[in-house]
Amino acid sequence: MSALSACEIAAKVRKKEISALEVAKGFLENAKKQDPRLKVFIKIHGDPFMASAEALDEKIRTGGAPGRLAGVPVAIKDNMNVDGWETTCASKILEGFKATYDATAIKKLKAEDALLLGKTNLDEFAMGSSTENSAFFTTKNPWDISRVPGGSSGGSAAAVAAGITPLSLGSDTGGSIRQPASFCGVLGLKPTYGRVSRFGLVAFASSLDQIGPFARDAQDLALLLSVISGKDPMDSTSSDEPVPDYAAALAKGTGPLKLGVPKEYFAKGLDAEIKEKVLAAVKVFEKAGAKIEDVSLPHMSSAIEVYYILAPSEASANLARFDGIRYGHRTKEAKNLLELYEKSRDEGFGPEVKRRIMLGTYALSSGYYDAFYLKAQKVRTLICQDFEAAFKKVDALITPTAPTPAFKIGDKTSDPLQMYLSDVYTISCNLAGIPGMSVPCGFSKEKLPVGFQILGRPFEEARMLQMAAFYQSQTAWHKETPPLN
Ligand code: GLN
Repeated sequence: MSALSACEIAAKVRKKEISALEVAKGFLENAKKQDPRLKVFIKIHGDPFMASAEALDEKIRTGGAPGRLAGVPVAIKDNMNVDGWETTCASKILEGFKATYDATAIKKLKAEDALLLGKTNLDEFAMGSSTENSAFFTTKNPWDISRVPGGSSGGSAAAVAAGITPLSLGSDTGGSIRQPASFCGVLGLKPTYGRVSRFGLVAFASSLDQIGPFARDAQDLALLLSVISGKDPMDSTSSDEPVPDYAAALAKGTGPLKLGVPKEYFAKGLDAEIKEKVLAAVKVFEKAGAKIEDVSLPHMSSAIEVYYILAPSEASANLARFDGIRYGHRTKEAKNLLELYEKSRDEGFGPEVKRRIMLGTYALSSGYYDAFYLKAQKVRTLICQDFEAAFKKVDALITPTAPTPAFKIGDKTSDPLQMYLSDVYTISCNLAGIPGMSVPCGFSKEKLPVGFQILGRPFEEARMLQMAAFYQSQTAWHKETPPLN
């Protein structure tokens, strides 16, 4: 059962070859078996999962039209609201908080008859690259459980890699979908800023955050992206750019391609094995007739610095709402209101979140604002202009997704800077608001997955999906599955 793709499950349920209940039973059983070893979920919501399957079967029995995700199990990163379920953001400060409404992306999944299996682990408030910043536990990489799955959407990536669900949702502010996708050997896509509504996603850095899909092949990824995309009156930054039928676009193929290989992404710091695999992926396109051009993104070297000023600045403002008054953790120790705020926040937030709040508050404070926040915004514009210039010459860029394969649990926890550097290739995409995706392209000698990244023009997700589908028609990396024990 777990080998079935989302497209296959939905087709079988639609044709009544299999009931949603059978699907749900099989997936729930497998999830319960695998989760103790991998620690993918903060919570498996078995009862509502089974109930939604039964309701779908009843709907089909009584002549209702099954949705596009009929009977497909989906895992949700635990920073998105599902009505009635806890949203923890893997933080103690949200202790006991239950969402009172569905995020727009969740509403759309439900409307298409997806079955929501549970909430997956993440770095606290999506700040991190390994899930080690979760206040609860670290998720294990299904390919080697001594290693991290990447982050912050590590639980969602591991769920799909291990076949626990064919699809999952993550969020990506600086690489949190693409880096774990590459570490876990699955596809992950960060849509163009505004493609998917952020309503009901707990905000980290609002000018960078996007919800996006994980899947094991381009067809499934296209299906999920089609469902969650589109304008939403509840998110004024969502775009009214029409949503193409991504699944239908795949059938058309890529057409002639001009691809750029930016030299800054292949310089010092890149693992030699990754370089070789990514360049081999470029060759697959070249052999099929794509024109390959060297391009340059000169301001890419400042992306990490810019991100670690802007993202914490926005986070420091967004996280001000967690004060122990309205919901979540409240200290038992306070003697007055100020102490209530201070102690609730001190007890509720973990070290990385505190670090970001301090960084952001500093960068925004008077006297430092011009030197840090304002300057970072100016360099952000230069990074956008680099991409604009590159996309005048080529249709898409191919780069590595991450500089190394999955690292060992504990390897980078004592050095935040080393942890930050694992996003060196993914961050500029968020700063520019363009779409980016990671596609599996092989394994290291230690049998750890490697991914390449496709960066596209705004709202050209269809072309990127076509590229991924073409690549997967020429290679078999995405078909490999991790060892079960
Ligand atoms: N790892 C990056 C950070 O810690 C990106 C996180 C994300 O995309 N949510 O900020």
